[in-house]
Amino acid sequence: MKMINRSVQLSGGNKCFVRCPGCYNFFSNKDYLTKDLLHFLFELKERTGIPKITMAGGEPLARWDMPYILRNLKKMGYRINLDTVGLSLIKDVEIGTNKIVNKISAEDIVHSVDIIGIPFDGSTDYIINHFRRNLKVNEIIRILEELSLKGANLCINTVVHKNNIDDIINIFNLIKGYQNIKKWQLFQFMPIGPGGYKNRLKYELSDEDFNSLEKILTSFNNTSIEIQLKSRLNRKNKYLLIDGEGIVWVPQQNNHDYWLSEDENNERILLGNIAEKDAVNSILSLLVNHELAETT
Ligand code: SF4
Repeated sequence: MKMINRSVQLSGGNKCFVRCPGCYNFFSNKDYLTKDLLHFLFELKERTGIPKITMAGGEPLARWDMPYILRNLKKMGYRINLDTVGLSLIKDVEIGTNKIVNKISAEDIVHSVDIIGIPFDGSTDYIINHFRRNLKVNEIIRILEELSLKGANLCINTVVHKNNIDDIINIFNLIKGYQNIKKWQLFQFMPIGPGGYKNRLKYELSDEDFNSLEKILTSFNNTSIEIQLKSRLNRKNKYLLIDGEGIVWVPQQNNHDYWLSEDENNERILLGNIAEKDAVNSILSLLVNHELAETT
């Protein structure tokens, strides 16, 4: 059995409800086929035994057959983290002009996934909108309430950047009352990908500032929520990504044990496409070669 030392992060498609200027994703206008995705992930499980995948943005719940995809991944034995903005759980959502994503019932997804990650980047609409366009505090609260009612395990995902670092305590005060929130992940903004690299100056936060959160967070000892600080260095070379078109890639990053300015770029190493014949074998071989080349 082959090993993968990276966490597999899948894009749910090429749509997004909030189109963050600092997004790391590569969007296209062609979506992978559901059958290709399921076939690829079945083979990947068989050959590597990886236990977990994360289904993330482009927005998974903008894809009409996502409940079907999640049910099938669960049957394959995956532990599934679903990261979603979640707006389509509370209403029909307009994307761009004339495109409507119909409301999805929370019941159709909660039983297939192990934990659902919801973004919460500020205690006011103004602060949230520095990163997520047009998302509102009261919408996030409604999503958390809807998912709590349905018994979902929840995780809050906060991208920490220079415009919200002073608001972290206020975010905690908004989430601490929810029994279903099991985890709070605070991610240091990562200046990679087309949006993340282009807009890095708007968001970038020094390691020192990010690490200073540790002291503040240890004072939140009146909570059962597991709090995790995830620096950009923690996440360097840790992901294998599949975009909304099915392209499998890793960010262009060096192998040093510290964050360097050259790690900030919008380059990616392409390893293949899930629709190709024998994609899993060829992608795993390329990944091994890439990692060997980086260490020599
Ligand atoms: S970071 Fe996530 S929510 Fe923001 S645009 Fe990218 S996919 Fe959408």
